[in-house]
Formats: sequence, structure tokens, C-alpha cells
Amino acid sequence: MSAQARSNLIGLTHEQLIVHLSMLGEKPFRARQLMKWIHQRGIVDFEAMTDISKPLRKRLSATTELLLPEIVQDYPSSDGSHKWIIRIASGSQVEMVYIPEAGRGTLCVSSQAGCSLDCSFCATGKQGFDSNLSSAEIVGQLWLATAQLGGFGPNAKRPISNVVMMGMGEPLLNFDNVMAAVNLMMDDCAWGLSKRRVTISTAGVVPAILRMQGQTDASLAISLHAPNDELRSQLVPINRRYPIRELLAAVRVYMDSLPDRRVPVIEYTLIKGINDHRRHARELAALLETFPCKINLIPFNPFEMSDFETPADAAVSNFRQILKQAGFTVTVRTTRADDISAACGQLVGAVADRTRRQDRYRRKLNENPDLAMGNFIICDSGRYSN
Ligand code: SAH
Repeated sequence: MSAQARSNLIGLTHEQLIVHLSMLGEKPFRARQLMKWIHQRGIVDFEAMTDISKPLRKRLSATTELLLPEIVQDYPSSDGSHKWIIRIASGSQVEMVYIPEAGRGTLCVSSQAGCSLDCSFCATGKQGFDSNLSSAEIVGQLWLATAQLGGFGPNAKRPISNVVMMGMGEPLLNFDNVMAAVNLMMDDCAWGLSKRRVTISTAGVVPAILRMQGQTDASLAISLHAPNDELRSQLVPINRRYPIRELLAAVRVYMDSLPDRRVPVIEYTLIKGINDHRRHARELAALLETFPCKINLIPFNPFEMSDFETPADAAVSNFRQILKQAGFTVTVRTTRADDISAACGQLVGAVADRTRRQDRYRRKLNENPDLAMGNFIICDSGRYSN
């Protein structure tokens, strides 16, 4: 069997692992044993898995692999946050960010190298789409960050309690791999994180939100950023295909499918002079009047290739006040890790790589504008096409 044809066990869900092992003539409980070694004890060497028989270990290492992405750079921030750049199998680089807070530690995870959605205020969008991460490369970020933070070992305290799919990429355009990875994060035989603490953030890929029903019960965050379709279509081009009304309806369907009562988070990046006026706050309050949710305001994080600006603190607090008075639970995301460019929308990868990829993508967009904003359907490649 060639190395490329081998299954990488790190990214297989419990069910997939059971199937895989049954093809080797093994019983289902072996899957649980393997998952505990990999995800709980942090062991990715078959030889060290002492409760698995030697012949099986041999067979596993001959037919499967345990392959993690590689950390290529490490940036600790002065505020305790941490950013790592990792290289994935496609050769691209993506970023993950750890944010410690009182009582919790959040890992912000990437799902794609680059992104095809081209939201006008997001640095990742400027790169264009490069490749999807495999499920092992997505859950592998949790593994790597845990190892880096000393979280494996018998007495180690797990540093990461929350995972947000808010790094590079649109998670719902890499559907199967993201589902497998988040389900592993919530599986008690693997990471055992609470379903309230594993969040998929989406720009609004409506059919994929509907498809989540029954495939996962992870929490959901929606990148809304505007209270009406006209403005949202300028900021988030996918809105031209799936307007706000359809988006909110799909989110409602997904939330109603969950066994517990949970509300989605509405993310709203505040951009000076664009969507941060009091009238936008009032319009947003009216739009969401009968839509149960929490609202998270994100003051725009500036980056090199953007002309947008961060609103003044007073504008942010006025916006928040209007929503609070209308009865919403509102949080404002404080900028962390600014010294390492790890804030939302600043995850841009290696500079040289970014420039080349951006040129390529711009050329492709000129040839086929539908790539960014036409009639979209989801394809498995992580792009959109007609
Ligand atoms: N594709 C996913 C994940 C994107 S990143 C999504 O759209 O939800 C997570 C959040 O950061 C999104 O709400 C995104 O819109 C926001 N964001 C992107 N660039 C930003 C920037 N420069 N400043 C502030 N927020 C930004």
C-alpha cells in the first residue's frame, strides 16, 4: 500500500474507526482504545500503545498512519495568547490561535487554507482559496496546541476548553472534514469537549447549515455584519446567493433540531462609517426581534490590504447600548494578541505566499467573477461554482 493511500487515524471518527478496524478483523472496542491513546494521552506512535497486541500494532503501522500537521512558527503574545503557523499536506500554511481567559482557554482553528468567500473586510478572503484541511489537520490543531501547552500527561490540566472554527476558511465549505473533526472534539472517547463549547462559525452557507442537522450538535455562530441585504451583500458576497431571511430561517431549523435549548451567536464586525451607525443598531434590533440569539460585536481589526477603519470606542459602546436596551445579550470582543497579528481576520499566513496566491486568485476572479459572487452551489472541493 502506498503511503498516500493509508488512512490517517487521527482524523477518523469513532464510527469510521470501528469500520476501519473491522476490515482488519478487529473488534469495535479497539477503536476506543486507539482514540484514547491518540486524543487523550497524546500518543501518536503505535509502538507506545501497550494495551494493543504487538501483531495488531505491526499491522496498523503497516497499513495506516498517525500524521499531524507540522508547526513551522510559534508566536507567543505578551497577553498570554499564542499563535502558531502550521504546514498542512498541501504545502500551504494556516494559523491557529490560543486565547486564555479566566476559567477557560479557547483555541481558534482553521478549516481551509485561504477562503473563496472574499468578504470585503477579511484578510483571509484576500488570499483566495487554496485547499481544504483534512479532518486530521483540523482536529490535529487541537492536538498540537494541547501538546505545546503541556496538556498531555497523567496529571496535566487540559488548557483548551473551547474551540471556535474562526480561523482561516469557511468551515461549511469543507463540510465532511469539519463535521468529523468537531465530532471528535466532542466525543467522550476522544476530546470530550462540551457541545456548547465547540462552535462552527459560518458566513452563511445555507444548504450546509441545513445539512448539519443530525450530523452534529456543535454550537453555531453566524457572521451577519449588516442588518439589511443591501449592505450585507457588499460586505459578505455570499449574501447575494443566500439572503438574510433564508439564512436566519436555516439557523432556526438547525437550532430547533438540537436536543437542548441553545441560541446561536450573531457576529457583527463593526466597521467605521460602514455598518456602525446608530440606525444600523436599531435596524439590527428590529431584524432580530423575534430571533433568539446572543450578539457578539467585533470592532474591525485593521490589516495591510484594507481601507476599512476601526470605529471609535464611543461608537462601539453606543451600538452595544442600543442593542442592550432592546433586550439583547451583547458582548464586545476585545482585541487580543494584536502584537502577533492573531486577531480575527488578521490570519494571513506567510507574506510571500500570500502575495502570490492573491495574484493568482485575482486573475481567476477576473476570468470568472462567479467564483466570488455568482450563482453558487457547494462543491466538495471547498469552492463555489455555478
Ligand atoms: N468563515 C467563517 C470564519 C471567519 S473568521 C465565518 O465567516 O464566520 C471569524 C469571524 O471574524 C467572522 O465573523 C469574520 O467575519 C470576522 N472577521 C474577519 N475579518 C475580520 C476583521 N478584519 N476584523 C474583525 N472581524 C473580522
